[in-house]
Amino acid sequence: MINVIDLPGNERARDFSNCGGPCFNLGGRDGRFLETVMDRAAEAGALDRMRIRMSLETTRRSGLSAHNAIAVIPGSERPDETIIINAHADAWFDGAGDNGDGLAVLVGLARHFATEADPPRRTLVFVASAGHHSPGMNGPRNFVAMNPTFAESAVLALNIEHVAQRNLSPARSVADDGYREFVADAGEAPIVAGVSNEAPFLENLFRRGVERYGTNFVSGPSTMASGEGGGYRSLEVAIVTTMQAPPLYHTSGEVPEVISVPGLERMARFLAFFLKQVDVAPWEQLNP
Ligand SMILES: [Zn+2]
Repeated sequence: MINVIDLPGNERARDFSNCGGPCFNLGGRDGRFLETVMDRAAEAGALDRMRIRMSLETTRRSGLSAHNAIAVIPGSERPDETIIINAHADAWFDGAGDNGDGLAVLVGLARHFATEADPPRRTLVFVASAGHHSPGMNGPRNFVAMNPTFAESAVLALNIEHVAQRNLSPARSVADDGYREFVADAGEAPIVAGVSNEAPFLENLFRRGVERYGTNFVSGPSTMASGEGGGYRSLEVAIVTTMQAPPLYHTSGEVPEVISVPGLERMARFLAFFLKQVDVAPWEQLNP
């Protein structure tokens, strides 16, 4: 089966691999070429004689390992209560949007809270997790298993994932061969905010975040926690996830140029605000 990934250019794509048999993803421009050839063959009454010859070279690697990176800022008043802040550090292709941008925001937050004059009350545990894109591995689940003291004292887990990819819209002009390209505009693609326990206090922080920082959260509430956030489910506390899934998600088009620098700043500022509010909130408000 040939999937035509109808995206700008000739992106390679990770998804759409479970078609039930040998499955080949073709980029948008190559796909257009193939469809044009098939149309011409049909017009000439020769479609039944059309053949495609394809070959694929693969290598299999085994015995690989992966590591989580962890940084801790001890709390000034309630050091035995933790807030976990996670961003996965692995990727398909260049991974600027999944999850270079989320990881950059995590590092920025760690730097901010480590140097702030007014230190956090609760202990902040930053996790750059490994294994999100590798079957059989899950960084958060390993973090929980290997760091029971930090994990069991968590009041909330925040997963920062895909947060500042620019929005794409169809280009107004059409290329010579009729193929319509996309353009990245100045703003960010929509961001889903998942609050697993629907805590009104946390939902309200997202509403205020849009007003204060201009983050492009979609308006509807969601209880979504991605595979990465789901690794913290055994803690039975609120899991908060920020996540985009724009058109170039999981493709070779996720390069630094499609990341909005102001969008990174909007998200970092919003999450600094969010964490400060969470830090001083009583347990009952975070986990009603
Ligand atoms: Zn991701």
